[in-house]
Amino acid sequence: MNEKLVYDTWEKADIPTFPSESDTKGALETLQWAYDHYGDTLVYACSFGIEAIVLLDLISKVKPDAKIVFLDTNLHFKETYETIEKIQERFPKLNIHLQQPALTLEGQAEKHGEELWKTNPNLCCEIRKVIPLRKAVESHEAWITGLRREQSESRKNTNFLNQDHKFKRIKVCPLIHWTWKEVWRYVYKHELPYNKLHDQGYPSIGCAPCTLPTHNMEDLRAGRWSGHQKVECGLHESAPNS
Ligand code: SF4
Repeated sequence: MNEKLVYDTWEKADIPTFPSESDTKGALETLQWAYDHYGDTLVYACSFGIEAIVLLDLISKVKPDAKIVFLDTNLHFKETYETIEKIQERFPKLNIHLQQPALTLEGQAEKHGEELWKTNPNLCCEIRKVIPLRKAVESHEAWITGLRREQSESRKNTNFLNQDHKFKRIKVCPLIHWTWKEVWRYVYKHELPYNKLHDQGYPSIGCAPCTLPTHNMEDLRAGRWSGHQKVECGLHESAPNS
């Protein structure tokens, strides 16, 4: 895949807008357009958090055999892996791939020291998330994420379609207008399986060493990288048009 070509082509394209007042606040329309436009060169980088459950249900209506990639850092909670299994049972056609980092945990410890997430979480995320995502999207034109504007200050300017300067791809964000309550209402209404850690005070779930429960509903990502000056894993730049 020619990175420059993908990027330049998008810049010249006629970028559509989607009706945020539709039943899914533009999410289904965005997905329909994205799969029509990008076809098999579109991949969903899925965290299997609660927003992902909504997206997977919507995606299965548009593209039942969609490509889904999970960045398997080897440090996730067992409940997260259980969620993946339940989702695969519910949507058997989904093509779920667990993307592994090049370095094993042992290899990482040998090269950079034990528990790198404590001493240098940015490097740990680079090795276990950013590089694997780069590998996962390199043969694709666009990728989907479940970012919502309400989630944090750094995400409030996210659009349905974004130029992703970091990965030189198009980033598709169907859920930007969804609120936390709307996400949960959808999950309950459709009786979708979800990560049980959400019921134990974890609104945002990442790797086990870097995720704590939180009761801070003002910032749903407050339990991530607690004690570090870090709010993102490095997959998402701040908008506008990130
Ligand atoms: Fe490492 Fe923590 Fe980042 Fe996971 S979230 S890759 S454990 S620093």
